[in-house]
Amino acid sequence: MSQQDTESTYDNNLPLPTSSLTSSYLDMPCQKCGNGNGKQLNQSLLRVWLLAAVLIPTAVLSHFLVYRSQPSSKFDGDIITSSFDTPIKIAIIGAGSGGTSAAYYLQKYSNSSYEITIFERSEWIGGRSMSVDIHGVEVELGASIFVDANKILMNAVEEFDLEVESFGGDDDTGFGIWDGKKFAYILKDFGFYSKLKFLYHFGLSSIRKVEKKRSQIVNTFLNDYYKTGFPYECLCNKNSLTEVTSITGSQLLEDLEVSLEYQQFIESLTRVNYAQNIDQIHALGTMVTMSTDGAKSVVGGNRQIFEKWVESSKATLHLSTTVDIIDKLDYGFSSGYNITYHSSLHPDVLKTLEFDRVIIAAPLNQSQILINVDLPPQLVDNVPEYVTLYVTIVSSPNSLKTGKYFNTTLDVPQSILTTKSCSDFTSLNQINHDPETGEYIYKLFSLKPLEETILNEIFVTYSMRIDKVWLSYPYLKPLVDLNEAHFSYSVPFEIHDELWYCNLMESFISTMETSALSGANVAALIAARDGARPETLVVP
Ligand SMILES: Cc1cc2nc3c(=O)[nH]c(=O)nc-3n(C[C@H](O)[C@H](O)[C@H](O)COP(=O)(O)OP(=O)(O)OC[C@H]3O[C@@H](n4cnc5c(N)ncnc54)[C@H](O)[C@@H]3O)c2cc1C
Repeated sequence: MSQQDTESTYDNNLPLPTSSLTSSYLDMPCQKCGNGNGKQLNQSLLRVWLLAAVLIPTAVLSHFLVYRSQPSSKFDGDIITSSFDTPIKIAIIGAGSGGTSAAYYLQKYSNSSYEITIFERSEWIGGRSMSVDIHGVEVELGASIFVDANKILMNAVEEFDLEVESFGGDDDTGFGIWDGKKFAYILKDFGFYSKLKFLYHFGLSSIRKVEKKRSQIVNTFLNDYYKTGFPYECLCNKNSLTEVTSITGSQLLEDLEVSLEYQQFIESLTRVNYAQNIDQIHALGTMVTMSTDGAKSVVGGNRQIFEKWVESSKATLHLSTTVDIIDKLDYGFSSGYNITYHSSLHPDVLKTLEFDRVIIAAPLNQSQILINVDLPPQLVDNVPEYVTLYVTIVSSPNSLKTGKYFNTTLDVPQSILTTKSCSDFTSLNQINHDPETGEYIYKLFSLKPLEETILNEIFVTYSMRIDKVWLSYPYLKPLVDLNEAHFSYSVPFEIHDELWYCNLMESFISTMETSALSGANVAALIAARDGARPETLVVP
């Protein structure tokens, strides 16, 4: 097929993710919010309204207040109710792993007592976990895998009876490390002899030392953030891991006297997982990329976990709806927030809804919300920068042997990692081969858009190309020292009175699981305030 025949889509033209949800569940936002509660306000009108609310004496408003829910609450048996026996209204901004987990755990911890509304800017549930159907194969464009240690996701898979497939568990396919000119290392398969060769090449002692450190860190993490002291007001309650966020991966590996070959292998993993080299990323991020035991994904797309959490929470969901402004309401003896938002169908029409509590479950700088309250200085001073990552999916009739790019007579591995000297891409994976059509599907990650010439050199021809650009994950930079680490991690999850922020954990580590954990943590803090029994506030 010639280049002109090539079908190309770019970001906004992506095929919509396949959804297992019913159409009524995916009702467009305006239909849902046009129930009399929504007010069409522009920003200046909103401010006039707010001013009026402050000036009009509380007594005048008291009649109205009886009919709205209040943040003050009581614990009545298993059910949390507000002081007026109406459900407490909670807005969640963002339907990614963090927001949907917050919705699910809020209801779990309160026996479904809250009235939850989720606002989601995109057309799908899942945020950075998103998949598309290509020739009948569901291909993840964002977060692809989770592992056995990801207890919250594993628990969801079990509860909702979702089918999983293991990732890279095929003994027949190995991997290679490409340095931009040649393969620095190739492992043909994961058979017995290949594994022996792997141990010999990278050094058994290096592998053992890294594994010991890795399992120590994972166990500390599981103990500190899942078991003891859950829920926690801020990450700083647990200082045990700040040390490994204050040094780079390189520093840790050098301290452990790990062989240079094994350092290069580990770097190929930090590059595929976080698009960062080991002298850039902190040691915690480095060790997390080594935690691949039981790597798996949900058949049909990981986002199904998050769809199930929304469904189970019975939240009202507004897709394609962007929250623009958060304003605090203060009636003296009660408070709350006005959420001003617009639908992508009617970008000029602003609407406002009132909530008792608000959870922001999206990276603050990406959410572009005007938040009209003071935020903790540690948060404002430490806004993390996110890696711009280009994901390119290619469907081609050719295997990787065909093109001249790899310039080798050897079999080209189906999974290609890279060293820092490779600037074209950070990883290339064959994710499917359909023997009937002969088509191969490949996924490439890169730090810049992949040029046509490179794709032609690799694949010769291709029948489809899909591009997706993400602000993927933060640069996991080591903090200068322990003092800076303590300062950064002292941001409370409640960033203002009854305003909560889930994405604090992301500069610590960014995964679907840790976002889900943050969501559960915020849910538990809220339920605890409403009187839920401490022993019920647990994560798997
Ligand atoms: C290419 C890629 C590969 C990855 N691979 C993995 C992996 O293999 N395993 C893994 O565990 N993690 C992986 N990650 C990281 C993982 O995707 C994230 O850590 C995790 O999904 C973050 O979830 P979240 O809910 O915190 O944020 P998000 O998923 O970003 O969700 C936030 C949501 O908020 C919405 N939003 C933002 N602003 C507004 C607004 N103003 N109004 C309304 N809605 C708003 C956004 O549209 C978004 O849907 C990967 C990420 C990328 C990009």
